[in-house]
Amino acid sequence: MLALYGTGVSNGISIGKAYVLQSSKPQIIEQVLPEHKVDNEVEHFLRSVEVVRRELQEIRKHIPMNAPPETAGFVDMHLMILEDKMLSDAPIAMIREQRLNAAWALQKQSDLLCNKFDKMDDPYLRNKKNDIIQVVNRVLRVLLGIYESTTEIQEGHIIIANDLAPADTVLFKKNKIKAFVTDLGGPISHTAILARSLGIPAIVALHQSTSYIRTGDNIVVDGNKGVLTINPDKATISYYKKRKLQTRLSKYEFDSLKRKKSQTHDRKKIKLLANIELPGDITAAMNSGAAGIGLYRTEFLFMNRVNPPDEEEQYRAYTKVIKRFPNMPVTIRTLDIGADKPTNSVPGAIDIRSNPAMGLRAIRLCLSDTSLFKPQLKAIFRASIHGKVQLMIPMLSNLDELFRVFDLIDEIQHELKRSKTRFNANIPVGGMIEVPAAAIAAQAFSKHLDFMSIGTNDLIQYTLAIDRVNDAVNYLYDPSHPAILQLIANTIKAGRAANIPVAMCGEMAGDPKYIRLLLGMGLREFSMHPAMLMDIKKIIRKSNTSELGKQANRLLKLHSNEKIGEMLDTINTLDR
Ligand code: PEP
Ligand code: MG
Repeated sequence: MLALYGTGVSNGISIGKAYVLQSSKPQIIEQVLPEHKVDNEVEHFLRSVEVVRRELQEIRKHIPMNAPPETAGFVDMHLMILEDKMLSDAPIAMIREQRLNAAWALQKQSDLLCNKFDKMDDPYLRNKKNDIIQVVNRVLRVLLGIYESTTEIQEGHIIIANDLAPADTVLFKKNKIKAFVTDLGGPISHTAILARSLGIPAIVALHQSTSYIRTGDNIVVDGNKGVLTINPDKATISYYKKRKLQTRLSKYEFDSLKRKKSQTHDRKKIKLLANIELPGDITAAMNSGAAGIGLYRTEFLFMNRVNPPDEEEQYRAYTKVIKRFPNMPVTIRTLDIGADKPTNSVPGAIDIRSNPAMGLRAIRLCLSDTSLFKPQLKAIFRASIHGKVQLMIPMLSNLDELFRVFDLIDEIQHELKRSKTRFNANIPVGGMIEVPAAAIAAQAFSKHLDFMSIGTNDLIQYTLAIDRVNDAVNYLYDPSHPAILQLIANTIKAGRAANIPVAMCGEMAGDPKYIRLLLGMGLREFSMHPAMLMDIKKIIRKSNTSELGKQANRLLKLHSNEKIGEMLDTINTLDR
């Protein structure tokens, strides 16, 4: 039995079998083979390519129903790369002519191809290099005997990985994985957010989990405390089984909370909304008792595919969500791609510079490429006739960006009118307040927006200068840092003065620790992963805003971590 410690990012306890994913690049050594081994090496290479071919065909067959429609295209492209003579024949020639070992020959050929791609002018083609690397790494892992098959992942497995891209996590989504554990990552990385939205326990920043754990090991994941136990003894298992029962809201309690009003003890109405990533998340959001969608992260429609979805496909996807929430707000956030959410389907979204989080992402990318943005705006406006749609712009940092969005909205509305297409011209347009500049200038933004939504994930990342996916600095993640609280307070105040709603859709809004403080600060709309909604409602129903208002004012005057922590404890244990 061995325990490892990381950062718990999604609550709950899971007991099950590990499945270790080796996603990092394998180590390769150059060898010159004796003549008599050459034929065998060629055979070994051909067999490995065949294994990968079958593996990719299997993955294609197992794509979940709700994955973006072009996911299959993405796998097909990898199959095409694998079949390409430049990858399949050239290494064989090197093995025969230079007597190189297969792995070295393949790596050498891959480096040659990648160099050629690097020199291409077209950024789209340049980015294709990443696909070659992914295919080559797959073959290398088989050649070197560190073979793994993602199709062998079974329901109930606990995934152990060095890191998981949001795109991988989307594909695992419907496979009923019990928990995630990664060596890298932070509490607001998208993998962590997805784990929470699935309602499954997760630990990140475990550093050496992939070296200590083998596929098939029995493990316990304690997502609350960030502790992972490998091959636990009987006493440990029974301890965790007991805790598992204690921490869950019973079905009875969940159902009865769902029927109750979302209001505080002193009858202040609180809007509880759900965050969703894919249209497939609608059912979870509906079952959660949400009063609508406070954040629909549309970028996930653009992942795991070769080309971005066109206007028609987006229109259908948005309409599907809207129709399932009649008379309830559905807040569609425009594309927030780039930084920690790269994708092959949008060339500019893979930023290899050192600071992608501060680079061309979200509204910046959309304004720099209106051929990407306009079809999305049109699709949202067309879909708006089916319900109560709200449009939300991510990562605003200055008013000019907002004015350019308004100009584009005018432009697409004219085009829609000209083509006699129906749309609702008056949908509320809101902005995410997630860049410190926008939070400081919230008053200016509030004069031009119909609502604001505080994105604490990015707000914390930028204000505290901590890369949200970097495990080395995630200990600095602190929603109750005085600077963060001041920015939130300023945004709420600006919204009140302008008489527009202020919501919060970052992870802080679904974290039980901060709900009472936020109520005291005057927040009345919370959007979170559906799995947390009833736990949060339970806290809200036991809270009294007038008492919390006084306590929050006191806390906002504090500066030391220790004092703030103590005050938070007091707030969270107040009777009502
Ligand atoms: C945020 O930044 O808080 C947010 C909700 O957006 P995302 O996590 O998708 O960047
Ligand atoms: Mg954000």
